[in-house]
Amino acid sequence: MEVWDVIIVGAGPGGLAAGIYAGRSELKTLILDRMPGGQLLITEEIENYPGFYESVSGFELSEKFRKHAEKFGAKIEVGHTVNEVSLDGELFLVKTDQGEFRGKTLIWAAGSNPRKLGVPGEVEFLGRGVSYCAVCDGAFFKDRVVAVVGGGDSALEESLYLTKFAKKVYLIHRRDKFRAVKVIQSRVKRNEKIELLLNKVVLSINGRDFVDSLTLKDVKTGEEMELPVDGVFIFIGNEPNVSPILHLVDTDPAGFIITDEEMRTKTPGLFAVGDVRSKPLRQVVTAASDGAVAAMSATKFLEEKE
Ligand code: NAP
Repeated sequence: MEVWDVIIVGAGPGGLAAGIYAGRSELKTLILDRMPGGQLLITEEIENYPGFYESVSGFELSEKFRKHAEKFGAKIEVGHTVNEVSLDGELFLVKTDQGEFRGKTLIWAAGSNPRKLGVPGEVEFLGRGVSYCAVCDGAFFKDRVVAVVGGGDSALEESLYLTKFAKKVYLIHRRDKFRAVKVIQSRVKRNEKIELLLNKVVLSINGRDFVDSLTLKDVKTGEEMELPVDGVFIFIGNEPNVSPILHLVDTDPAGFIITDEEMRTKTPGLFAVGDVRSKPLRQVVTAASDGAVAAMSATKFLEEKE
């Protein structure tokens, strides 16, 4: 069976940057994912990736990353969901729904999935008014009323994006302070289409065939209210994709993988990068940086072994 110097799981900015550096180090590099791009694909606009001062769409940036990795010889295989990772002697055995792959090193760049609210109606109305992706679904809400839940960069940025379509955006946050950076908070507060509903939590998402309202509770007064909406976009953070390698890594209390500065996990030859990693700042630029470091660490690991 073919043995790769490095297998990279995840083709977001972290995985593709690792692919660029690994390929350029002349490592035989395989990148596996369902599709290339990661969360960039569901991001309308990136305005803080260095060099792209006029902003760039998530799709365009991910395409540049992909082509750059391929330019240096990384092979990208799409359509793979990784189900299991184990050690086969000194090799990593990566099993996907499409096949098995063996690598001397493994860079885990599998990103994260949207966290769920866990309220009645969330699962039932998925795709019928409940969404975790404004870029994917925003256009369906032209001249409609939508709610966004969350108080971080994603919730505020996506609220602004949704005002391109919706006639009204309620931004529902469980506190009265946002986590999002100040510049985005100011833009949200200036936008006349956005109404802030602070200190509120969603108790349920209601409707018949489609979402038609939310039941909210004020956390200060305990008062409940019914808010008529046509849709709700949920941006309350992400949960890391770690389950296939959970037995090979240590995680922090929130479930993110602990690495050292060289992106090494507790298993020799296994590195973790990007949003799956325990770290203070999750951005495209820090994912890319992690990927570069991990690829160089993998190179060093292989050189020391050989
Ligand atoms: P986040 O920063 O973790 O924020 C999640 C928000 O959801 C918080 O405001 C949190 O409230 C709220 N929340 C969490 N669980 C909740 C629940 N069960 N019910 C109601 N509200 C809940 O997540 P994010 O906005 O998705 O961002 C993830 C990372 O990507 C962050 O590091 C962010 O900076 C980064 N990011 C960067 C950009 C950019 O730079 N352009 C864009 C998007 C994301 P509390 O505040 O009360 O905890």
